[in-house]
Amino acid sequence: MNPTAPDGPLRDHLLTLVPTPIGHLDDITLRALATLRSCDVVAAEDTRRSRVLLDRHGIATPLVRLDAHTIATRAPAVLARHRHVAYVTDAGTPGISDPGAELARLAIGLGVRVEALPGPTAFVPALVLSGLPVHRFAFEGFLPRKGRERRARLAAIAASDHTTALYESAVRLTATLADLAAACGPERPAAVARELSKRFETVERGSLAALSETFAAVPARGEIVVVVGAATGGPDDARGGAALPGGAREGGTLDLEAGEALARARAAEGLWGRELRAALEEAGIDRDTAYRLAVRHGRRGGSRPEPDPEDDTGDG
Ligand code: SAM
Repeated sequence: MNPTAPDGPLRDHLLTLVPTPIGHLDDITLRALATLRSCDVVAAEDTRRSRVLLDRHGIATPLVRLDAHTIATRAPAVLARHRHVAYVTDAGTPGISDPGAELARLAIGLGVRVEALPGPTAFVPALVLSGLPVHRFAFEGFLPRKGRERRARLAAIAASDHTTALYESAVRLTATLADLAAACGPERPAAVARELSKRFETVERGSLAALSETFAAVPARGEIVVVVGAATGGPDDARGGAALPGGAREGGTLDLEAGEALARARAAEGLWGRELRAALEEAGIDRDTAYRLAVRHGRRGGSRPEPDPEDDTGDG
């Protein structure tokens, strides 16, 4: 029998994707708890983390580990051995920026029935709390860390006529805010939602330049969703105004103020000289402007660095 056919041997098997809290352990639905209690096995991205949740709710169902590295090899056997598998990831809705979507695809391919329970996910409260228009929005997940794909995604956010939510780690937040300010323009409204539903939940709202400076001065901790407003003049832009994408690029060149914000933020991270200039060019700033900004901002601790014979930024 073909195991991938919908009427294959696993047609009576069920995979339930179960959302779990993104912070507060009480944020779990009655149906999610009933599923975790009644299923044959709970497959988890991290069994130790999920054990804490199950213990809190007095659930003794056995746990097996299925993470991004083991789904392809181990999931077929787990789904074949157990008639009802519940899947939980580290937090939130399985399938949203985690391995849940891969498992769902694999199970569908094996002819397993798949259900996804509604529940917590981080970008929804972040969008609502941002105060930005959310009748239409895009979810970008994590941006690529560098290169052409990152630049393309930043450009798409800059031109977008609706609000965008994206996930970011605390260590990369200042770099991403600076890149967003450079791509979208320093005045683009945005919000940074941290530690949602946890004890130290905060939401900072302001322009990308202001947020960039805030978090360059006091680095963020915890888990973060960044929300970016629509391009100026787009149908979802609450501010109205001229129809320039992001307000930052006129005639294809980067606005100097946006470049200044980016250069300041990158310099605050310790970049200077050639590295700073390269980072500015990578963000889409033309060579001459990047050179000038690197000269102006690329002083280590305000002092002139040792000369670097290969460095033509004027910094060494
Ligand atoms: N599946 C999850 C969901 O439904 O939101 C997302 C998993 S992804 C691996 C983890 C990222 O989600 C974090 O890096 C952060 O960007 C965001 N996140 C998760 N919990 C959060 C929280 N309590 N507050 C803010 N952001 C959170």
